[in-house]
Amino acid sequence: MNRRDLVKMTAATCALWACGGPVGAAEFKSTRADAVDLTPEKWREILTPQEYSVLRDAGTERAFTGDLWDDHEDAVFVCAGCGLPLFDSKAKFDSGTGWPSFWEPIAKDAVADRVDTSLGVVRTESLCARCGGHLGHVFRDGPKPTFLRYCINSVSLDKVPRAQASGLGAVQLGGVGGSTP
Ligand code: FE
Repeated sequence: MNRRDLVKMTAATCALWACGGPVGAAEFKSTRADAVDLTPEKWREILTPQEYSVLRDAGTERAFTGDLWDDHEDAVFVCAGCGLPLFDSKAKFDSGTGWPSFWEPIAKDAVADRVDTSLGVVRTESLCARCGGHLGHVFRDGPKPTFLRYCINSVSLDKVPRAQASGLGAVQLGGVGGSTP
């Protein structure tokens, strides 16, 4: 059995036994000094049902339905759960997928990665490194200079126009309400 077969078999076994997930964001433990660690009940009070479904339950918005996939404003995008700056429009590109896409996070410690086998294939899940909110996935088919494609749910992000972006970073539960109804 070669390595590819082994990966396929492992993924299939995971799918069969439902051991893959969806990987619950509640299992994530941030290593940041400003970690935000709330109970599911508290998150339900703070987030809209759609935000909860994506951020805390690893849901996915339908392609081309979010408010940021076709947004081209000069802006910073913060976590809709805790307000941490996650992405910059300078690294945003049109992937054609219907989800906002970036080739890199705004900072090395902003976005955490985790293996996700929930669909029977191995993917890399992207999480807010401060609150563990599910953002989307990162793939290795992006453009220069990183060749990465962070495929992110609009609902996980709040947009802050650059002119208003100074001083961002403090914990703001529920994000800044900039883009999510
Ligand atoms: Fe967050």
